[in-house]
Amino acid sequence: MHRLKRYAHFMVRFTVLASGSKGNCTVVTGGNTRILVDAGLSCRELFRRMRMVDEDPATLDAIIITHEHSDHVAGLAVTARKLGIPVYFTEGTHRAWVRWLSPRKQMTYTQWLEQCRKQAAARMAEADAAMNDECDPEEVEISAESAPVETAEPVPAKAMEKDPTWLPSIQFFQAGKPLQIGDISVSPFTIPHDAADPVGFVFQAEGVRLAVATDLGYIPPNVKAQLKSVDLLLLESNHDLEMLRDGPYPWSVKQRVLSRVGHLSNEATATYLETEYDGQATYVILGHLSESNNLPELARISAERALNGHATLLGNRLLLAAQHEPMSTICF
Ligand SMILES: [Zn+2]
Ligand SMILES: [Zn+2]
Repeated sequence: MHRLKRYAHFMVRFTVLASGSKGNCTVVTGGNTRILVDAGLSCRELFRRMRMVDEDPATLDAIIITHEHSDHVAGLAVTARKLGIPVYFTEGTHRAWVRWLSPRKQMTYTQWLEQCRKQAAARMAEADAAMNDECDPEEVEISAESAPVETAEPVPAKAMEKDPTWLPSIQFFQAGKPLQIGDISVSPFTIPHDAADPVGFVFQAEGVRLAVATDLGYIPPNVKAQLKSVDLLLLESNHDLEMLRDGPYPWSVKQRVLSRVGHLSNEATATYLETEYDGQATYVILGHLSESNNLPELARISAERALNGHATLLGNRLLLAAQHEPMSTICF
């Protein structure tokens, strides 16, 4: 029996399950589609947090990945297999993830990709055979991808044992090329970060635009362009510059965090909010706060000061995403 879901009548919803260097994970719901953005928590913890906010893990349709760092993919394979849902990567991110999980793999990436394509073709052929001839091709694809767990193909245990990178289905996308996942339009954009092919996203459903931009060393023009006219902005506010400089990290790590492919400081985020941000978002969420080099209050004060000049933000809300507990669901 399905429990009555608290927010089920809202068509567009956004829930940050975790944000920070120990794990990132957000649920975006639009219409009848539900996407998990990153899977940086263990599957068990991810499911636990979803249930805490009255979201049913079994209703997820897809997982989409920003980049291959472990705080974004730690629970990916297990979660995707358990739910039998497709995972969307850029090819560069996927390749880096495969390398990370199988450093001594004999097969080349090209051979491995070919094997995946054959497996996918076989699955598609099976799905096609089962489909009614009158079905619209697009509907066929969507229904094949968003098959509920109970009707998903059983996971071949042997494949999983042999190959830690095995996933039920892989879909590639490219930064700069919008894609559609069910009822949600996704615009992926390149971000400057020390990963293979990292991206941020703008999700759009029912006319509502939700932006996710964390893990970026600075905010280049292409990102600024994407963050215009959004209704919700999840933006990194990683560290306080003084805390980082005086903090426990080794010099090399401090340099990495501070670099143009590292993370946004409270100060950099404040500068953006003060000088470039258009003040359109109903919700600004500060995310990916460092536990070693930041304090929630410092991030909040810095952003509040920066937003003071924005008359349009009166009545709008500044929120903080946390590492150890999910945020309340934001509904539109
Ligand atoms: Zn991260
Ligand atoms: Zn990262």
